[in-house]
Amino acid sequence: MKKSFLNNEKLLEVIKEYPTPFHIYSEKGIRDNIRNLYKAFSWNKGFKEYFAVKATPTPEILKIMKEEGCGLDCSSMAELILAEKTGFKEDNIMFSSNATPYEEYVKARELKAIINLDDFSHISYLEKHAGLPNTICCRYNPGEFKIHNNIMDNPKDAKYGFTKEQLKKGFLLLKEKGVKNFGLHAFLTSNTLGNEYYPALAAMLFETAVWLKKETGISLSFINLSGGIGIPYKPEEEANNIFTIGEMVKNEYNRILKPYNLDNISIFTELGRYITGPNGQLITRVIHKKETYKNYIGLDASAANLIRPAMYGAYHHISISGKENLTNTNLYDITGSLCENNDKFAINRKMPEINIGDVLIIHDTGAHGHSMGYNYNGKLRSAELLLQENGDVKLIRRAETLDDYFATIKDFF
Ligand SMILES: *Cc1c(COP(=O)(O)O)cnc(C)c1O
Repeated sequence: MKKSFLNNEKLLEVIKEYPTPFHIYSEKGIRDNIRNLYKAFSWNKGFKEYFAVKATPTPEILKIMKEEGCGLDCSSMAELILAEKTGFKEDNIMFSSNATPYEEYVKARELKAIINLDDFSHISYLEKHAGLPNTICCRYNPGEFKIHNNIMDNPKDAKYGFTKEQLKKGFLLLKEKGVKNFGLHAFLTSNTLGNEYYPALAAMLFETAVWLKKETGISLSFINLSGGIGIPYKPEEEANNIFTIGEMVKNEYNRILKPYNLDNISIFTELGRYITGPNGQLITRVIHKKETYKNYIGLDASAANLIRPAMYGAYHHISISGKENLTNTNLYDITGSLCENNDKFAINRKMPEINIGDVLIIHDTGAHGHSMGYNYNGKLRSAELLLQENGDVKLIRRAETLDDYFATIKDFF
């Protein structure tokens, strides 16, 4: 059974003060995940997590990252400005973008962020528009990626990264143009369970580092394993063990890099989902029940607040406040109010009987939840709350209003 980080008594107290729907995050859960990540990689002297801003781009959450010693991974102008305004700069910002407008490179250079180039052609584009920095990272797309001979994903179909030959050419060109420090990055598959993704990715990148050393004479300064460590959205799935992952990456590091004296390479990560995903929940109330060819539950939340189920058929566990111990006797489609038949948080979900007025907890919405929200049908995005470590709840983003929605066309009114 999936447990909420909010007990029922506390939840009832919170919904008295804040109208549903809203996302609420657990500060303690977020801090614990970061601390465990740092412990798991403490064997690597330069280890640093650059939290992927797009997962939860809310300043109060980013401040937690800062207090825990993380940097930020940004990929847009707004994310760079968020980083700047929350006090991040220089090598505490990784800029991992693609199809990048030059204004964003100019901003990244102004903040002295580490730039992670997505393509060979961006070397001259960056040089032309913003100049080349001393430190540069390049994003690698190996075309094929296997773990124990099983194809994990097909990077060839992804728009990201340099090919291997472009990487060699790129590093040589960058060196010729005076770049001093080099990093290598790859993000090959998302939301992985089973502990094996990072070690396999690390081994591939470490071998590439050895090859680059031979081919170009360049010793990398850092290797960025990026995001991709998953979380168990389904109650029967098992969580990754970050300590096992750290240990397995260490073994590959010692096996592959040490013999070539490349063992002062720093390991970076850009985890988003792993850090905040399980530490957020969407709290919503049942406003309708409908019985036609199926049984429908209508919520006050919609895909505007959480689009993952509508977009990828993603599973999010749902529990009913106060009914956690009842058996699943009924079958429901749990829906929002958008005029789109995919606006369903769950399809054919077995649940205890649901009544109008019940408060539902949609689990694991802490990453790529509120931030993926949109305004289709004129629906507004909800507030965000933080359950602080001391037990108090704080509003960290208000809900959107109709005035916000009409702001871009206000001259018409
Ligand atoms: C989205 C993204 C991440 C974070 O991915 P998670 O699956 O949330 O860990 C990290 N790096 C880059 C470049 C990304 O685009």
